[in-house]
Order: sequence, then structure tokens, then C-alpha cells
Amino acid sequence: MRKTLPLSQLVEAIAEASSIRYNNLVYELQRKKKDVIVLSLGESFFDIPFYSFTDLDYVRGYHYSHSRGIFELREKISRFYEKQYGVSSDPNTEVLVTAGSKAVIYMALRTILCPDDEVIIFEPAWVSYTEQVRLSYAVPMMVPHYEGVADINKYVTERTKAVIINNPNNPSGKVYSKKELKQLYDFAKRRGLYILSDEAYSDFVDEEPFHSMAIFDKKKERVIVVNSLSKNMGMSGLRIGYVIANEKIINAILKLNQHIITCPATLVELYVIKYLDAILKKTFPQIKKLLSLRKEIGRYMDSIGLERLPGTGTFYFTVSIVPSKLSSEEFATRLLKEDHVATVPGLGYGKSLDSFLRVGIGTESPERIKKGLDAIRTLITKTS
Ligand code: PMP
Repeated sequence: MRKTLPLSQLVEAIAEASSIRYNNLVYELQRKKKDVIVLSLGESFFDIPFYSFTDLDYVRGYHYSHSRGIFELREKISRFYEKQYGVSSDPNTEVLVTAGSKAVIYMALRTILCPDDEVIIFEPAWVSYTEQVRLSYAVPMMVPHYEGVADINKYVTERTKAVIINNPNNPSGKVYSKKELKQLYDFAKRRGLYILSDEAYSDFVDEEPFHSMAIFDKKKERVIVVNSLSKNMGMSGLRIGYVIANEKIINAILKLNQHIITCPATLVELYVIKYLDAILKKTFPQIKKLLSLRKEIGRYMDSIGLERLPGTGTFYFTVSIVPSKLSSEEFATRLLKEDHVATVPGLGYGKSLDSFLRVGIGTESPERIKKGLDAIRTLITKTS
């Protein structure tokens, strides 16, 4: 008889989400009344108006909604994607809303992947892609950060089924050019691959315009777009994410949604339907402010000699810790314990990122961000 009951080997082999692990350490320090400079959160704290829930149809809100999401919400999202990015979709058949884009990325991967299929993922790669691919019994094929779209040929095999692209990229802030996207799209078409385009930070751009991957695939043959209210709109706590894809894919994702989540929180759906437009009027201008802070912080990094991966979008930087002798985990842990500055180790974003940290600037004042960067600079020197 076994002494202890085993868990799934697949789940045991999965890494924790490093960004969330580091943020849990932050909460523990804060509980001990330590003042932590938080550069580890994947959020921007907008000033967001709050409307009353009591005006909503709470009787409806107390119950399940349609498993694709309430129609009016799908319609709103569909119109938003059309107006904002020129991507049209049928809210009846080509849009599904659920509890966060993280869940819907997983459901999309489960929908398209068979065991041992390979998925090409560009580093830096958001922490959950690799593990979600593994949880789908498939194999992540990582493209190191120093290679680009033009190098994809080297990573493709007869087993390749899909490419994941995160545009703009968390954590580098890279915004893919129209040319790069077209190149990737043409490649996927030639090789018969799906493209999962995670556009969670689509509005966090200014110098370089954002283009949705879906503009190249009018018939929605291969492109699956995911997005959410978490980053662009600063409302991660509402847990509203969505997917736009062809009817066949949406119908398959719908089955998974019905068996796993059922639907988003209905009351939240009603809230978003009623107040999203008013909220965006207030929050969209704040994106501009954050992007101008990004520029200011970039200049500050230059002035103290902190190097980073190229990028102009999002509220993240991928900062190099070279020539420190520490790994990114060791560095981030020491920085947190000794200086009370929280970042996320690069390793979580791919093997080629172990000499980098993710630095997020969405939640602290410019002065405190600069203080945190000074601490990074000093620790690099100390550990070189
Ligand atoms: N994609 C990317 C690139 C992200 O950074 C995140 C959140 N950190 C998500 C998806 C998931 O966001 P949510 O589940 O809140 O929609």
C-alpha cells in the first residue's frame, strides 16, 4: 500500500506563477508592517469611478447567466474591438466572455492542442503560457529573447500546432509592428498553424501603434484573440476576460466553459454592461499618463545605467542585472529581503531571461519607483 496518496505528475511538475509567488511574499512583509516598494504587481492602479450595484437587476444578478456571457456584454465587446482595432466579430457566435482571460487562454489551448503538439512561444513569455501548454499535454517550444519573428523557422517542426504571441508584451513592453505581425501570420498560414494572440495590454501604447493580429485573418481561420478588462481598464478584480475566434472554436471553448466555470459573475456582467463606457471615459486618459511615466522612468534608468529589453508599451520593463553573479531568483529574493523592493525574477519568463527582472510601474509613485531602481543598481554593483 502507498504511504501517501500521489498527486498528478503533470500538476506536480508545474511551476508556481512566479509573479504571484513574489506578490505573496510582499503581502507577508506588509503584514509585518514593512514598507515594501512594490514593482512586482501586474496591475496599474487607475482612479476608477464606482457605481452603485443597487441600481442593477440584482435578482437576475444572483443567478447564472448565459455561458457565452450575457449577450449585451458580448455585443459591447464586439463593438469595442471593431471600433478600437478594426476587428469585426459576430457577438452571437464568435465571442465568449468568462472569468478572466487566464482561464480562457487555457480553454483555447485545450481546444486546439492534442497530446505532444508543440507550441511556439516567444520569450519573454508571460508566466502562464508554458505551464498551460504543459497542462494541455503539449510541448512549449521557447524562442529566446534575442531571436525574433524572422527566426521562427528554426523552432518549427512537423509537430508544431500553434504560436502564442503577446502583443504588447508583458514584460518587455515590445509592441509588434504591422510588418512583423503580417510576417508571422503568413508563416502560420503557410505552415497551417493557429495563432493565439493575447492582446491584454492593447491600449498601453503610444509611440508605436497597436495592431490586432485578427486584422489579417478576416475569416478567422486561425487567429484566436484574447483580451480582458484587467489591464487596459485596470479592473482585474472583476474577472472579466474574453475570446474572439471562429464559431467552431468558440463552440468548443463554450463546452469547456460550461464544464469548468459556467459563466462570469452575473452581477459583474450587468455592472460592466451598464457602466463600462462611463468608466472608460475616466480611465483611458490615465493610460496616457502612465505611458508618459514609463518614458520618464526609462530616462531615469538610462541616467543610472540600467539596461533593459526594447519596448515602449505596457507598464513593465525587463531590466538587465548583468554583470551581477546572482541568478534572477537570488537577486529578486535578496532585493526583497534586504531592500524591501519587490520585483519578479526574469526566469519565470523563460530561460533566456535569467539575468533580468520584471519591473512594473503601475502602482507606485515616481519617487518610490526611482528609489527601487537605485536599490537594483546598487545590488548589481555589490554582487558583480
Ligand atoms: N495575459 C497576460 C499577458 C497577462 O499579463 C495577464 C495577467 N497578468 C493575463 C493574460 C491574465 O489576465 P486576466 O486573467 O486577469 O484577464
